[in-house]
Amino acid sequence: MPFLDYVLQSPSYGWQCENGKLVRPGKGVLLKEFLNRLNVFNDRKNWLPFFSWLKVICLVPFLFLFLFKYLSPVTFGAAFIYSMMIMGTHGTIWHHRYCTHGAYKFKNAFWRFVTQQLTLNIIPEEIYVISHHVHHAKSDQPGDPYNAQGGFWYCFLADVNHQPIAKDLAEADYQRVQRLMAHTGIKANTYQQYQHWGSYANPVRSVAAWLLNWGFWYMAFYLMGGHALACSLFAAAGIWAVGVRTFNYDGHGHGKDKQREGVDYNRNDRSINQLWPGYVAGEWHNNHHLYPKSARSGFKAHQLDMAWLYIRLLYRLGAVSSYRDDKRTFLAKYIQTAHVTQHETT
Ligand SMILES: [Zn+2]
Ligand SMILES: [Zn+2]
Repeated sequence: MPFLDYVLQSPSYGWQCENGKLVRPGKGVLLKEFLNRLNVFNDRKNWLPFFSWLKVICLVPFLFLFLFKYLSPVTFGAAFIYSMMIMGTHGTIWHHRYCTHGAYKFKNAFWRFVTQQLTLNIIPEEIYVISHHVHHAKSDQPGDPYNAQGGFWYCFLADVNHQPIAKDLAEADYQRVQRLMAHTGIKANTYQQYQHWGSYANPVRSVAAWLLNWGFWYMAFYLMGGHALACSLFAAAGIWAVGVRTFNYDGHGHGKDKQREGVDYNRNDRSINQLWPGYVAGEWHNNHHLYPKSARSGFKAHQLDMAWLYIRLLYRLGAVSSYRDDKRTFLAKYIQTAHVTQHETT
């Protein structure tokens, strides 16, 4: 069986029926699975998704402070930019293009660290990266961890129900997980530690990294704009952390065929290019499925890609040593040839 078929922990309802069709559990079943797999008292190996949601819960008090104490046009504007553009673009730069697709390389560990820490630490890399490789291998097929055909809740709860790595990998398979994560700089559990904790990441290190990151950013925001700015941006990060969980459902057209002629060139799955995720986070998702290893996804003139601008800036500064850019290949294959054929037929 291919590695990507079993590297993720299967949900109790399974990925597919005996006839090969996708299992589509109801909302109640999905919620029950979610609560079971967050229960760390039942199984300590559930710690990582629990930790991820714990961070979101910790941001709720900041949301109340923002809404009821510090709300003003300035804090609203700052929160809007932080949640919509900064957190989203950072997700694309770090979790997506670097950690998963290795679309570019840092010159050294310092710049990798700076890039990793650019925003509040919320989504564990391991939950994002391994499952995202599976998403590309099985887009819109059974086994896709956020298969939009499973419905909104199937995708929204995926980081707990479908994305964590399997808890019973053999040592050689765990080593393959290590190889997929090594360049991120996150230190791996040994196989013995993995057998104990069920994860690549170590809980002690993860908690320490979380506290240091949040402590640093609270202090930095406080120095820039007092508790008002700090609470507003922490609240904004919480809003993003919940909102981003809806992206995969939207990015694959809610499981329906929403691809448009002249907009979405990749027809192997149901991914679509959408203006909003494109403008705020560089997620031109149909382009991305066409060229997943490209450090740029905005290929057409109007397709602003801020994640790409950051990677290019770091390249100019010498902090990024190399990157891959598939814009020319895309234009040659899908735009220029289309013009030529159009020309020939007229
Ligand atoms: Zn996708
Ligand atoms: Zn991807």
